Amino acid sequence: MYELPLPTEYPFDIFSCLVPGSKFDILLANPEVRDSVWFFDEIYRIKGATASLNTLPVLKKAFLHQMSKEEMKSLYKNRLVDSKDGRDIYNAIMETAINRTCPLCSLRKVSTLDHYLPQAHYPQYTLLRVNLYPACIECNKAKTDKVNPRKAKQTYHPFFDKLKGILWLSAEYRDTPSPALRYYVNDQVPNTYALRDRMRYHFNELALGDLYASYAGQAFSDIKDALQRVYRRKGAVGVERYLARQHRSYYKSNPNSWETVFYETLKNSPTFCGGGFNNIVMITFP
Ligand SMILES: [Zn+2]
Repeated sequence: MYELPLPTEYPFDIFSCLVPGSKFDILLANPEVRDSVWFFDEIYRIKGATASLNTLPVLKKAFLHQMSKEEMKSLYKNRLVDSKDGRDIYNAIMETAINRTCPLCSLRKVSTLDHYLPQAHYPQYTLLRVNLYPACIECNKAKTDKVNPRKAKQTYHPFFDKLKGILWLSAEYRDTPSPALRYYVNDQVPNTYALRDRMRYHFNELALGDLYASYAGQAFSDIKDALQRVYRRKGAVGVERYLARQHRSYYKSNPNSWETVFYETLKNSPTFCGGGFNNIVMITFP
């Protein structure tokens, strides 16, 4: 999870590029409809700032003067995803991810746009920039379309949930049957607007603990040989220093990456530095 700058685009910036020739083009000429779109954007930003998007109404049928949910979905698909002009907007949003890395898992590469509030239940936010950010397809699918009215059961929102300066990711070292890490969202995250609860919910729903542990499993295997060589020359202190150097290096680019926490946890484990690494089960590919 990492935060993205809150979009400053006006609610019509996407609409006006996509609607020419559609039913929405005529609708937008209606001042009432324009007011409604402004209202959707405004209320979304207000609710988002207090993690209260769960209190917005789920729309069952038509909205905006007979614009149906299906028409809105088709506008998104045919005009934003599949048309040339729309694709330029789509790609520009994709480019907002840091190094094309997904803001929901901080690991896989972005490959789609995610609607924080799903189109299936909230068509009124389908084309609002503030509801759209880049994500990887796995996170996009794991989020699903389900709606949960409880505040603590909302996923992380990259535009509103501020994490700068918070070391939120930790891991627990487990020695048996072989070295492994269990990743979790720690207590350093303030629970203002249920942020800590929501991050834990997000972490579990998107199975980020399993994802990071899997990468850590390979990393254990990759460093075993190097640690054994360091230990033969400089003992446990040498191993700890080696791991601390790796930790510093990863920390500089991302204090909350699985790698940063991997090296931090291992350097702080006397058991691991004192020879626990010898029990690493090697992962090898043919
Ligand atoms: Zn992801």
